[in-house]
Amino acid sequence: MKLNLNIQPLESWINVKNEPLIISGPCSAETEDQLLSTAHLLAATGKVSVLRAGIWKPRTRPGEFEGIGSIGLEWLKRAKAETGLPTAVEVANAKHVEEALAAGVDILWIGARSTANPFTVQEIADALKGVDIPVLVKNPVNPDISLWIGALERINNAGITKLGAIHRGFSSYEKSSFRNEPMWELAIQLKTLCPELPIINDPSHICGNRELIPYISQKALDLDMQGLMIESHIDPSVAWTDAKQQVTPAALEELIAKLSLRDPESKNEDFTDKLAELRKQIDKIDDIMLQKLSERMAIVEKIGQYKRDSKVTILQVNRWDEILKKGTAFAKALKLDLSFTEKFLELVHGESIRKQTEIMNEGKTEEEIVEASAAVKS
Ligand code: PEP
Ligand code: MN
Repeated sequence: MKLNLNIQPLESWINVKNEPLIISGPCSAETEDQLLSTAHLLAATGKVSVLRAGIWKPRTRPGEFEGIGSIGLEWLKRAKAETGLPTAVEVANAKHVEEALAAGVDILWIGARSTANPFTVQEIADALKGVDIPVLVKNPVNPDISLWIGALERINNAGITKLGAIHRGFSSYEKSSFRNEPMWELAIQLKTLCPELPIINDPSHICGNRELIPYISQKALDLDMQGLMIESHIDPSVAWTDAKQQVTPAALEELIAKLSLRDPESKNEDFTDKLAELRKQIDKIDDIMLQKLSERMAIVEKIGQYKRDSKVTILQVNRWDEILKKGTAFAKALKLDLSFTEKFLELVHGESIRKQTEIMNEGKTEEEIVEASAAVKS
């Protein structure tokens, strides 16, 4: 499946001062002085292409700072006039869109909580009909790529062709070192579905702390993301929102200086030849692995028939335990990552169980059984 979005290349609607594209500014506009002094320092780095600031803040709990509101748009206007930086704000309803447009904001973005709600996205899309402004759509809070795609489609259907996505990570129940799990595979999937769509990474909201931002920023560039949105505050220690993840403009400059820009394709012929040769070797090994997996499944089938005829259960816990122990010990000796090996063995074992279940049920798959029973019920 390919995504049919009608979009213009990012370079035609953002003047990228320096590679990589950096969008930066405070999480929230707090005071005129805080916004202006931050903006001036960011502009002075010469590395920031767009000034961001949250004017209306979606907060998890009531009673927290919910954004300075419309007055902040006046401060942004002044920051733009004094620094020459185009501005970007988050919009979460039609009124925000109208006010931001009236204040001359250059780029709008849709926040993660809004993307998760198609009613909200449609309201924003309707407010944007007939307007020519760039819009960036953050991924939804939950790891659901359809919601992300749906939001991009709604905005695109409203006639917005200066369109991009922001990857800010996904909420997860499991405890992790990140505030939001990157789940890079979802951003990669989106890129595969629509290679023309620019994807900007937001390491600040992925990390939730300053320390990890350089690592995630570099990884995003290595995965060919088209830019970074990084929160910056004149004095993060007193920031009213997201204090732990904001960096000073000086720290931002240092961080950007340390990033390596790598090309997706090398122009060096020797490199291209060597890469092609190594890829050929990998492909050969993949073929062998698949062949061996197929041989393994043929044996599993025989075991299934044998267990069925002998009236023995599919699962013997001791046997699975033994496979896991033996497999992980061998993997260790082979210097394979332990958790990768466990996941791989679990996947193979799961498929064996699925196959044997099919045999126990006279060749019917679980889906067929579930569907048949649903048909009987109705
Ligand atoms: C933000 O960028 O300040 C913000 C609220 O981000 P998100 O929507 O990704 O949580
Ligand atoms: Mn923030």
